[in-house]
Amino acid sequence: MVQAIVGANWGDEGKGKVTDVLAARSDVVVRFQGGANAGHTIINDYGKFALHLLPSGVFHPDVINVIGPGVALNIEALLRELDGLTERGVPAPQIRISDRCQVLMPYHVDFDRFEEERLGKQSFGSTKSGIAPFYSDKFAKTGIQVCQLYDEPLLRERLEIALVKKNCLLEHLYHKPTLKVDDLVAWLRPLAEKIRPMVCDTSRLLMDADAAGKTILLEGQLGTLRDPDHGIYPYTTSSSPLAGYGCIGAGIAPTSLKDIYCVTKAYSSAVGAGPFVCRLSGDTADELRRRGGDAGEFGATTGRPRDVGWFDAVATRYGVRMQGATEVVLTNLDVLGYLDEIPVCVAYETADGERITDFPATPVLMGCKPVYEMLPGWKCDIRGIRDYAQLPENCRRYVDFIEKQIGAPIRMVSNGPKREEILNR
Ligand code: GDP
Repeated sequence: MVQAIVGANWGDEGKGKVTDVLAARSDVVVRFQGGANAGHTIINDYGKFALHLLPSGVFHPDVINVIGPGVALNIEALLRELDGLTERGVPAPQIRISDRCQVLMPYHVDFDRFEEERLGKQSFGSTKSGIAPFYSDKFAKTGIQVCQLYDEPLLRERLEIALVKKNCLLEHLYHKPTLKVDDLVAWLRPLAEKIRPMVCDTSRLLMDADAAGKTILLEGQLGTLRDPDHGIYPYTTSSSPLAGYGCIGAGIAPTSLKDIYCVTKAYSSAVGAGPFVCRLSGDTADELRRRGGDAGEFGATTGRPRDVGWFDAVATRYGVRMQGATEVVLTNLDVLGYLDEIPVCVAYETADGERITDFPATPVLMGCKPVYEMLPGWKCDIRGIRDYAQLPENCRRYVDFIEKQIGAPIRMVSNGPKREEILNR
């Protein structure tokens, strides 16, 4: 059976924690897209961890953790993350890397930075970890697959093809030093050897596991609104964070996917550039940002302060539908306990004064303002409650209201950052 865990919004919905909970019940956990550009926060018995590339099953020694072909593999970052776990007492996890996965090269990171510098104020809020240049190369067919690392003549040929264009851009557009095939091969050789024991045909592994009745969890990074096709283009990422893509990026038949857990926060948060209709400012924003998450709303990978706002039902309804959510997990509900009244954005007003409830394409979205409905707060700390029925009435009403607004069943509610702080509804 295949399950997916994905985000409904802009990322940082709290997927890491929920994945950690679900990973404990899974046999295989798979990363299917993205790279080390975003991060999950996981707090468990070993401490607090920000995972960037590693699947969230790494804390469970019996779980097989797969880096699927859809991932942007930064080998150095992966090895650093693995060392970081073992240094802190986590037993060595089982990792498998797809032989079809492509390698994120140092020049991808450079090009990301050079391009953001060139664009200046018009930049797209990249984390500068090389993701956009990596996926551009993949689809331009000038990328390097992991399997090609073990055939040096082929690797050299691939790099020579790639470097012709790169060096032209480096010299004439960015005015930077050019690259040499020899340097890159020398850099890749030891890294390739280090990951060699982990490399295999992971699609075969997944299909066999599925056929044997094992539970496979596909773990998405970011959320619907960062999808290159369905998100807030061009303020998106460069690979699809949708469950539908999960099967492709992992290497499993779409018909195997049964449960889609879609995670959303009890309020909104986003990091990076682009329109964010519910963006708050001033003291209201500072207070929500300070109280949010486990240590304030700051990016797990970049440390950048996140923009925050009230729950956006327009964006989340769209986000949940695009994911095909079979159930929704509502996280960070405890954060809202300080409020007398809680605004929820139920519609947008466009620049032309029209009231809309469908999430629009970017040019219209740019001019939208939120239309709020006020709900009564519950004015107490709900952390420590272990039974959904014990939540204050206004808190349960808030969950009911959101469920009705987004049109998908909320089956789990998270009331604190720790693994056990999750309530079944
Ligand atoms: P992800 O990328 O979707 O995994 O999201 P992150 O882990 O980066 O961000 C979610 C933040 O919320 C992290 O700081 C988590 O520790 C925290 N978190 C997750 N669930 C809860 C919750 O229910 N309550 C609180 N207070 N924090 C939570």
